[in-house]
Amino acid sequence: RNNVQFFHAGFHAAAMERLQLETDLRYAVERNELRLHYQPIIDVTTNRLVGAEALVRWQHPARGLLAPDTFIGLAEETGIIEQIGEWVLAAACGDSAQWVTAGAMEFISVNVSARQLESGDFPRTTLQTLGRLDFDPQHIELEFTESAVMRDRVHGAEMLRVLRAGGVRVAIDDFGTGYSSLAYLKQLPLNTLKIDRLFVRDITTSPYDAAIARAIIALAQSIDLRVIAEGVETQEQLDLLEALGCTMMQGYYFSKPVPPDRVPAFFVATPNRRA
Ligand code: C2E
Ligand code: MG
Ligand code: MG
Repeated sequence: RNNVQFFHAGFHAAAMERLQLETDLRYAVERNELRLHYQPIIDVTTNRLVGAEALVRWQHPARGLLAPDTFIGLAEETGIIEQIGEWVLAAACGDSAQWVTAGAMEFISVNVSARQLESGDFPRTTLQTLGRLDFDPQHIELEFTESAVMRDRVHGAEMLRVLRAGGVRVAIDDFGTGYSSLAYLKQLPLNTLKIDRLFVRDITTSPYDAAIARAIIALAQSIDLRVIAEGVETQEQLDLLEALGCTMMQGYYFSKPVPPDRVPAFFVATPNRRA
């Protein structure tokens, strides 16, 4: 009504491609096509591994190894994320059970999407899975984005409380990109804030980004939270973050995410460590 719309054959092709990807994704778990890679998290004061973040990839039969950005959004829209999330948690526990019980690292962190948190069942099924796998919950840190816990504040806070009561650690991922109110943040039972890569990237050249990083670190310290900087790529970024009081970091400077069999190499020494 009162408007004209053009159809382009390309729209059809894009829609078909999306549909095909969705169909493939539905079978990805049962066909055992998902993989976890792990990115080391380093304490730069000791140069030791403190943890590792599990990051999912999809070994697509035709398209090769796909990064999460290409399918997590689709998985969230279609609800397939619930199945993927359960697989990720169980696989991460399976891979890391030996690492944490041997004391080679404190925790393994796992990303949780907003859609998973929305299902009221999430804390219970998570704790059940850990119980079934006999995995000590204190060795798991779950990462939520600000928007995931902010979407429904009362529900979000309650979910986190149940998880914490069950012994699981809780982190806010990509901190600084959302719009958390500080008053609300104070009410959340958190362990860790992760400074988004966006602020780390230009931290040595942009006084604005450095100021944000400084503020996040000060905030975390003042309410007794651990702070982890993401996306550290250079010695200069590392030095500046350390000078600001942030000692835990992950990023290409230390390592890209690696398959599980390459994680033990980090137990003894961290590449690029300073003398
Ligand atoms: P994230 O949780 O913030 O993970 C950090 C991302 O930054 C990873 O991308 C990692 O490879 C990348 N990265 C780490 N260090 C550097 C660096 O020094 N430089 C640069 N340029 N990038 C760095 P990845 O693996 O592609 O994951 C992207 C996002 O996908 C993750 O962001 C997370 O939000 C999501 N994701 C990954 N795995 C899962 C999962 O199992 N479940 C859910 N719900 N989301 C996941
Ligand atoms: Mg993360
Ligand atoms: Mg992040």
